[in-house]
Amino acid sequence: VGSSPMQAVLVAPGVKDRKVLRFKRDALKEKDAVSALMRSIAGPGSGVRSAFYVFDLAKVVDLYRAWRRALPTVRPCYAVKCNPEPALLGALAALGAGFDCASRREIEAVLAVGVEPRSIVYANPCKPEAHLEYAAEVGVTLATYDSEEEVAKIKRCHPTCDLVLRIKGPDGGHVRVDLGTKYGAHQDEVVPLLQAARRAGLNVAGVSFHVGSGASNTDVYRGAIEAARGVFDAAVALGMPPMRVLDIGGGFMAGPAFDEAAAVINAALERYFGELPCVEVIGEPGRYFAETAFTMAARVIGKRTRGDVREYWIDDGLYGTLSCIPMDHYVPHPRPLAAPCAGEKTYTSTVFGPTCDSLDTVVTGYQLPEMSVGDWLVFDDMGAYTTASGSNFNGFSTSDIKMYLAYSS
Ligand code: PLP
Repeated sequence: VGSSPMQAVLVAPGVKDRKVLRFKRDALKEKDAVSALMRSIAGPGSGVRSAFYVFDLAKVVDLYRAWRRALPTVRPCYAVKCNPEPALLGALAALGAGFDCASRREIEAVLAVGVEPRSIVYANPCKPEAHLEYAAEVGVTLATYDSEEEVAKIKRCHPTCDLVLRIKGPDGGHVRVDLGTKYGAHQDEVVPLLQAARRAGLNVAGVSFHVGSGASNTDVYRGAIEAARGVFDAAVALGMPPMRVLDIGGGFMAGPAFDEAAAVINAALERYFGELPCVEVIGEPGRYFAETAFTMAARVIGKRTRGDVREYWIDDGLYGTLSCIPMDHYVPHPRPLAAPCAGEKTYTSTVFGPTCDSLDTVVTGYQLPEMSVGDWLVFDDMGAYTTASGSNFNGFSTSDIKMYLAYSS
C-alpha cells in the first residue's frame, strides 16, 4: 500500500483503468463542485452515454480524520459489504483502517490492497466451511460467532481462530436496517456459548454487537457497551482468560449524528471499560465511509408524456445500483445534471428503471423540469449498499456502470 491514499488508490487492483480527475471545491458548495465535474464528464462530445459514478476520494480522507478525532480509541474496520470499490479499500488501507469481511471474496479484495490478515475481522457469524478454510490458509484469525454449530464448524475448519461472541444489540435505535432479528446471541444464550467455545478449546477473544444500520437514536450504543461489559465479566466468572477485543460494530452515519454517537460511545467506554485499558476497541463502519462519497448520474433513455405528467426511463434502477431503494430504504431525490434555470417550470414526473418490471420505479409524483432523452439525473449519497447489491436482471449489468475517481482540494 502506498504512503498516501492517492498512491494507494492508484496501485489498488481493479482501478488501473479508471480515470482520475482532480477538481476544486473551495469556491463551490461540495454538491455543486461534484455536479460541475459530472457535467464535464458527460458533456457534449465526451462520448459518455450511460450511467456513471464519481467517487470523491478526499471525502473519505476527511471522514477518516473526523473519525480519528471523535473516536480516538476506536480503530475503524471498514465493512467491505457496504461498498467493495477497490479505490475505497485502497484509500482506507493507506489511512490505517482495518477491515470487516463477510466472505472469502471480501477477504481476497482486502488482501489484494496490501492489508495484513491481522487487520481483518471475519465478522459474519455464519460462515461457509470453504470460506473458513480459506481464512485459516491466509492467516485471518479473528471471527465472530453466535451459535454452537458455528463453534463446531470453526473447530473443524480453523482450529486456531480466536472467537468474538456477537451479542444482539438493544432495540430502539430507530435504525434504517435492523440486523438483530438475524444475528446476535440473546442474553440467556451468552453463558452456554462461552462454555461451548471453552469445551471446544477455542479462545473467546472478545465481544461484538451491531445496533443496526443507520441508527438515529445513538443512545443504543450505551446499552450495547454495557451489555458487552456484562459478557466480559461472565467469561471471567467462568474462569476463562480475560477478553481483549470489544467490537462496537457499525450503524454510523456521517454528519451530526456521528458526533452524537461518538460522545455516547466515549462516555460509555469510559464508564464500562475505563478500568480495562488493555481492551482493544474496534468498530465496523460501512455506511459512514461510503455513503456520501459517491454520486451517481443516470441517463434518460426514454420518455412518455401523458397529459401534464412526464414519464422517464433511466439506465439504472431498482435491480441495479438503485437497489438501495428497496433494500436500504434510500429515499431518492434526483436532480437534473443540467444547471438549473431560475423560474423553470416543473412537471409531476415518474422515473422508471430500465427493466421490464413495473416494480422498477424510482420515483413517482416527483417535480422535475422538462427533460429529454440524453439528459442526466444525479443521485447524491449513493455509496452505501448500492453497487454492492445490484443484479444483472434483464441484462442490465451493474458492473457496466463506470466509476470515475475524483480528488477534490
Ligand atoms: N458489521 C456487520 C456485521 C454488518 O452486518 C454490517 C452491515 O450489515 C456492518 C458492519 C456495516 O454497517 P453500517 O453500514 O451500518 O455501518
